[in-house]
Amino acid sequence: MSRVYNFSAGPSALPVPVLEQAQREMLEYPGSGMSVMEMSHRSKAYDGIIKGAEALLREIMEIPDNYKVLFLQGGASSQFAMVPLNLFTKSKTCDIVITGQWAKKAASEAAKYGKVNKVASSDDKVFSYIPDLDAATFDKDADYFHITYNNTIYGTRFTTLPDTGSVPLVSDISSCILSQKIDVSKFGLLYAGAQKNIAPAGLTIVIVREDLIGNAMEITPTMFDYKIHADNDSLYNTPPAYCIYICKLVLEWVKALGGVEAMEKINEKKAKILYDFLDASSLFRGTVVARDRSLMNIPFVTGNEDMDAKFIKEAAAAGFVNLKGHRTVGGMRASIYNAMPLEGVEALVDFMKKFESENK
Ligand SMILES: *Cc1c(COP(=O)(O)O)cnc(C)c1O
Repeated sequence: MSRVYNFSAGPSALPVPVLEQAQREMLEYPGSGMSVMEMSHRSKAYDGIIKGAEALLREIMEIPDNYKVLFLQGGASSQFAMVPLNLFTKSKTCDIVITGQWAKKAASEAAKYGKVNKVASSDDKVFSYIPDLDAATFDKDADYFHITYNNTIYGTRFTTLPDTGSVPLVSDISSCILSQKIDVSKFGLLYAGAQKNIAPAGLTIVIVREDLIGNAMEITPTMFDYKIHADNDSLYNTPPAYCIYICKLVLEWVKALGGVEAMEKINEKKAKILYDFLDASSLFRGTVVARDRSLMNIPFVTGNEDMDAKFIKEAAAAGFVNLKGHRTVGGMRASIYNAMPLEGVEALVDFMKKFESENK
């Protein structure tokens, strides 16, 4: 069987050149006599991999020197608890914008350790837009202000950032890391599960300003304390070693393509092809207001559940897989992360055109 176009929201497609290099180095990582999977995480060879991955991430994302990069486990979902446990240092209050399931989870975990102020929500319209924010509703004494930058399930993204003054802005960038330029200096903390745009599942990346480290709540488990991981260069315990190796290969791939800026241009082009088609189509339509459309996750429907099911089935048979929308939205969703080539999006649109003409 040949490779399909995989539109999965996560875990997602990885760049083919990365998989090929991993295949070449599977049995013997150059000079080590063994697979990366078999290596001590404290060996010299592995030191080069983890330090190399961090240096590349710092370079590609232009991460300022006063931020730590942590390679952790537990997924973005663990950060929903780890963020409040580490950042609830004064008022034990946070502001959260509710833009979907992941934001709701970030809020319900934070509520276990302090007070959550839901500054705005778009759940009145199934999270199909990013709510306008009124600074008058922000809590000036909040320990942090949380947004989900790109909403994987609903296909929205923030295009302007809230001005939170001295309150650290925290963002879940699981589904948009490396897909567009992000000014790290505007944030106190960024986190991402790797399985959308960076690596296989198992790695979580945290980028955190140094002054936010070291004041975790007393009840914080050791493994949930950023300071432990920062002080030990992410080697307090065994890290997700193979995932970090793939992460390094993906970062090399992004760099060779011209970095995040070049990636963003390609992603804008890819998304435009699909959105332009949806806007003109007589059968399909996008579900998100134009202003807030994601570059990475594009939900769409026909308005008829049977027709949606027919489309998903025929698309899969034609080699376009994982197009079923999230159960809370229905319809379809095409996730077109960095590793989805332009040709994949063009081929999908061609298939949708054909389907449309056959199902008038
Ligand atoms: C996938 C996703 C998560 C959940 O990530 P896990 O690594 O599975 O915990 C959280 N937030 C966003 C925005 C996501 O896309």
